[in-house]
Amino acid sequence: MIIRKKYKFEGAHIVRNCSSYMCRENIHGHSYEVEVFISGDKLDKGHMIIDFILLDKIKDFIDSFDHSFSLWADDDKAFKESVYQFNKRVAEIPLSPSAEGYALIFLYVCDIIIQNIEKANSEGNIVLQSVRVHETKTGYAEAFRDDLKLCDFNINSILFTDRIKDDWKDKNWWEDLKNHKQFKNNLL
Ligand SMILES: [Zn+2]
Repeated sequence: MIIRKKYKFEGAHIVRNCSSYMCRENIHGHSYEVEVFISGDKLDKGHMIIDFILLDKIKDFIDSFDHSFSLWADDDKAFKESVYQFNKRVAEIPLSPSAEGYALIFLYVCDIIIQNIEKANSEGNIVLQSVRVHETKTGYAEAFRDDLKLCDFNINSILFTDRIKDDWKDKNWWEDLKNHKQFKNNLL
């Protein structure tokens, strides 16, 4: 069975090297919708695949891009410096912030998050199947696990400014994720 959770964020970016000069040469923003598809092979004690409340770190992660500038790590050095100088919330990412780039990065990170959730309610094998990122009402990119071969990055190449980190309820969760520390279920 597959379940799906939807998240939203308001994000700003430039998509360098894309075909449209509107997108590659101008800072602009979108109201993004992110759909996370998760499969399970067993019902938990509440007859759910997994309670959405256990996916709170996915929300924290995607919220990190809300009212943030998504900055491609390979963008022009002077531009990068100006972004950091004049913006508090900056998420530096290893892929260009296209819908495809977001989908791949979100898939990669959400997969690590799901692998590190403490499953204490008889959940089965929980697997992230895909992440769909809607940049507009009419178009989306969907990344599947196999698509990670399209790129080469790791979690250490995703950077958040201190202002973003200050808004996290759990200040240590990102470092914990890097260390594959299991997230406890505080509700039990
Ligand atoms: Zn755009």
